[in-house]
Amino acid sequence: MKLLHHALAGLVLGWAFGYDLWLSMLFSIGPDIPQALILYPLLAYKHKRIILPLDGDWKNFSKSAWSHLYFAPHSLLFVAILNFSDFSAFFIGLYALHILVDIPTHTGEWSIRLMWPASWKIEGFFDAWKRS
Ligand SMILES: [Zn+2]
Repeated sequence: MKLLHHALAGLVLGWAFGYDLWLSMLFSIGPDIPQALILYPLLAYKHKRIILPLDGDWKNFSKSAWSHLYFAPHSLLFVAILNFSDFSAFFIGLYALHILVDIPTHTGEWSIRLMWPASWKIEGFFDAWKRS
């Protein structure tokens, strides 16, 4: 699922259950924040793009050390760490929901590594990033 879709899901769920909408959206996009703030600009710079990298720029990037900024926040380890915070179970649930939704929609080298840092991954069954 893409960042905007996650944010909209957080907005709707936050509204439906009466929670702060900004925090709902923030936790809904939580696992993708390091990717959006660090990996996108890094790849754009590397490939001399103005703002965002193109789809092809991501090829083989999952093998670099930087990719752990994607895999780590999409793991159960981060959900466990959040459980030690003072945030409500609702927001932590939104964070976990993001990961749950990403599992079937990420395939190949970007499949979710739920048990990160272990390299075992769950192969999704359709690619949300693929353009038809
Ligand atoms: Zn994600």
